[in-house]
Amino acid sequence: MNRFEGGPRPAAEKPPIMDKALRNEKLTPQEVRTMFSRPGAGEWPTAEQLRDYMCSLPDREIKGLEEHRQEITEHGGNPDAAIAEMAELRKFEGFEINDLEQTEYYPFIAKFMEGQGISPKGVKIIAIDNPEYWKKMFGSNITKSSMESKAITIDKSRFKDLDKRQDLQSWLVHEVAHTAFYDRLGAKLPAYVKQYEKDNRYTDSANESVAYQTQFEFLKKTGWSKEQAVGFMEEYLDEAYGSADEATEEVKKELKTLTGFIDAVYAQK
Ligand SMILES: [Zn+2]
Repeated sequence: MNRFEGGPRPAAEKPPIMDKALRNEKLTPQEVRTMFSRPGAGEWPTAEQLRDYMCSLPDREIKGLEEHRQEITEHGGNPDAAIAEMAELRKFEGFEINDLEQTEYYPFIAKFMEGQGISPKGVKIIAIDNPEYWKKMFGSNITKSSMESKAITIDKSRFKDLDKRQDLQSWLVHEVAHTAFYDRLGAKLPAYVKQYEKDNRYTDSANESVAYQTQFEFLKKTGWSKEQAVGFMEEYLDEAYGSADEATEEVKKELKTLTGFIDAVYAQK
């Protein structure tokens, strides 16, 4: 028995995209496109604010380490050594902060980004040319973006031969898509951050569904096959998670979500 029996059935109402995003549910490629077709808040941090933010990172990390002292020790780590190492990074100031649009990186992705309705206006890129600092602060990833800074950070030492490296170009696309998502959330971004932190999921989130699907869309337009895209993600996850036994399950789980994104993107006309 259903309550519409006997009468005309109303068209199923689709939940508004941003409500779905705020619940941290994955968006479909079509929903990502629709979201980007709408204007964002256009509020971006200045280069000065970003410099302050970057300089505050070691102390934020130290605070976290202090709070988890006991757990770190229980897992065989040395919190004092980790804190001392982080304290050293306070001296680092080599942040090159520029408008993405003005850098040598943008031309490689400009046509694609603009085709997606994503404007580079206001987006800043922080290039760091110090592999040692990068590894200690950001680990194995080659690019980063954060919901707080709404900016892209890249390991400059690994951003070479960009004309031949579509894999690198695609990570730039990924991060720009993140910043565009934060911009579309506008005043609701803090509410999203709360939900995201509560859920504590990586690829299985609204945020990453937007970034990865845009990245795969770029690779598809660039001429990569579906199999190449899957292989690329396998390599990336292996590097990010390492080969320890306990990492295998994580990698499998994340790869399943990423393969789902790849399938959805390649199924689109
Ligand atoms: Zn991401």
